[in-house]
Amino acid sequence: MSALSDELRFPYDKAPGPGEVKEVVEGLYWACLPLPFRLNHVNVWLLKNEDGWTVIDTGCVTKSIKECWEKLFAAPMRGEPVKTLITTHGHVDHIGLAGWMVDRFGAEFVGTFGEWVWARLSHSRDVPGSNDEHHRFLLGHGFDEAGADLMLTSRHRFMDMSSTIPGAITEIRDGEIVRFGQRDWRVIVTRGHAFEHASFYCEKDNVLIAGDHLLPRITPVIAVYEMLPHADPLGDYLNSFAQFASIPDDVLVLPSHGRPYYGMHTRIRQLQDHHTDRLDATISHLRTPQHALSLSKTMFPHIDGPENIGFALGEVLAHINYLIHDGVVGAASDDRGHIIYESFA
Ligand SMILES: [Zn+2]
Repeated sequence: MSALSDELRFPYDKAPGPGEVKEVVEGLYWACLPLPFRLNHVNVWLLKNEDGWTVIDTGCVTKSIKECWEKLFAAPMRGEPVKTLITTHGHVDHIGLAGWMVDRFGAEFVGTFGEWVWARLSHSRDVPGSNDEHHRFLLGHGFDEAGADLMLTSRHRFMDMSSTIPGAITEIRDGEIVRFGQRDWRVIVTRGHAFEHASFYCEKDNVLIAGDHLLPRITPVIAVYEMLPHADPLGDYLNSFAQFASIPDDVLVLPSHGRPYYGMHTRIRQLQDHHTDRLDATISHLRTPQHALSLSKTMFPHIDGPENIGFALGEVLAHINYLIHDGVVGAASDDRGHIIYESFA
């Protein structure tokens, strides 16, 4: 996480209060929901159609988020139905109330296939083999049995913040034009923060609904998970910036966390610089061979609590795997079954 927003411009001083909205473009409303995490809010977008509403992202299952939605449904949305629910990606703060909302309104559920499948796998407790694989992954990276058990319990807390993910989806793909909120949007599907994260760009109004991919004040979590232990999400993330190259710099970016901002290309450069610094630090620390948990505690000295340590481990592994793909870091097992990483640079 880094505060690198000096050169960005924020047209709004503060977020709308619970159950309130701000109209950021004609017919496109910003609402902000409280999250029970260190990251304490998520933005959602409400778009007025000729007939009912399109909602982008939902928040997760908590009493206060549902109370917010009741206020939003009643007042700004005037009791008119949600016709379409779109999720940018499958993380629980974005998709967690999808089943609840789709059931309530009979809404069409729209998103990418990869995120829908990922969410159905990741927000269920009883997927065969998944707990065992996660446990094995944690032990290999330096956790003891008790620490690994705590991590699994903590993940179950996240799973309980999701309503049932809808059983069918209308799939969207990269490059498609979709129409909602009485304007056309180009779908931009990226990897890195998630497997098939969708952003939406409206060329006519020069607005980008950016999800978690281009956040203004924090760097999106770029992490390796046990399902794909050899993945290179950081390489995917850095490569994804080319997909935004043709968008004008005066685009209004609507992120899922933080305030809407101008300065997308500046922000992309800041994110590139941040990861370059973290890669350099990773190389430097791995001149002393060690496992990933040990490096996580060095790279994130102030982090605590199982979910935050889980994110730190995933982030550290993302930087390690990038360097392994680059041939700068190597991995070997020690006699305790830990994966030990060492840099050659
Ligand atoms: Zn996310």
